[in-house]
Amino acid sequence: MRAARVLIVGCGALGSAQAEALARAGVGRLRIVDRDFVEPSNLQRQTMFTESDAQNRLPKAVAAANHLREINSEIEIEPHVSDVNHSNVEQLIDECDVVVDGTDNFATRYLINDACVKHNVRWIYGAAVGSYGVTMTVRPHQTACLRCLFEEAPTAASAPTCDTAGVIMPIINIVAAVQVSESLKLLTGHIEDLHGSLMQFDVWRNEWRKIDPGTAREDCPACGLGTYETLAAVSQEDAAVLCGRDAVQISPSRPTRVNFASLADRLRRAGEVKFNDYLLRFRTGNFELTVFKDARSIIRGTNEIATARSLYAKYIGN
Ligand SMILES: [Zn+2]
Repeated sequence: MRAARVLIVGCGALGSAQAEALARAGVGRLRIVDRDFVEPSNLQRQTMFTESDAQNRLPKAVAAANHLREINSEIEIEPHVSDVNHSNVEQLIDECDVVVDGTDNFATRYLINDACVKHNVRWIYGAAVGSYGVTMTVRPHQTACLRCLFEEAPTAASAPTCDTAGVIMPIINIVAAVQVSESLKLLTGHIEDLHGSLMQFDVWRNEWRKIDPGTAREDCPACGLGTYETLAAVSQEDAAVLCGRDAVQISPSRPTRVNFASLADRLRRAGEVKFNDYLLRFRTGNFELTVFKDARSIIRGTNEIATARSLYAKYIGN
């Protein structure tokens, strides 16, 4: 374990729980990548961070590295403040024994899946929203990958997110605990003890389910056919800084039609929202998001693509 390197993609709620557990377990090298800053609203669930991290608006990767070094000074922590995308994902997973999913969006998960299948790196999917969580361990070309189960990511603006629906901390700890246990089994070579399922939990409804994901599918675009859609620059969700307007435009990676009424219902919990037949406008803090029917959005209040992508993932969701 001391010689192992684990990549944690996303250091929000799941990522901070994973990072702390892996650091305490003594995994020798932790590479942590996150594009966001710590905000006061994160503290309810992101147990790594403190009020002073939020006041100082520290990048999550940096704040996490500071705390982890105090938890275990004998391991190497490698923080990366960046947006994971097609141009850097293969470099980030390079030399990693396991990749753990701490992200909040499917665009990044499909990117991780494609890169890990291509380079034969094991990765552990995990997600939580509300009181529900899900996780699955992917061993490329042996178990099913995320695309074997769901060939395409859900379309933009189709599902609740932690920032619109909320999330309670206990489900985070359950999902992260299973992901960390699976990481330890992989790092110590106990393949036979992996849970081998798509594991789902709901701590409010008291449900716990294991679904058999089967094996790697021959007709899977990634592990069967060897095509890695998200790694090609042309297929990327398109983002562009709108010059002189303090705004960034994000276009979804796949065509969709947004139901404004249901998106507005979800967004009302997080800020001020208005819509007509053509567009929906949502205000939160210093940012204003204008969403069009095709899920293309203009995010005003920033000219940073990473910040805009982060807001898009949090509020529109994909
Ligand atoms: Zn597959």
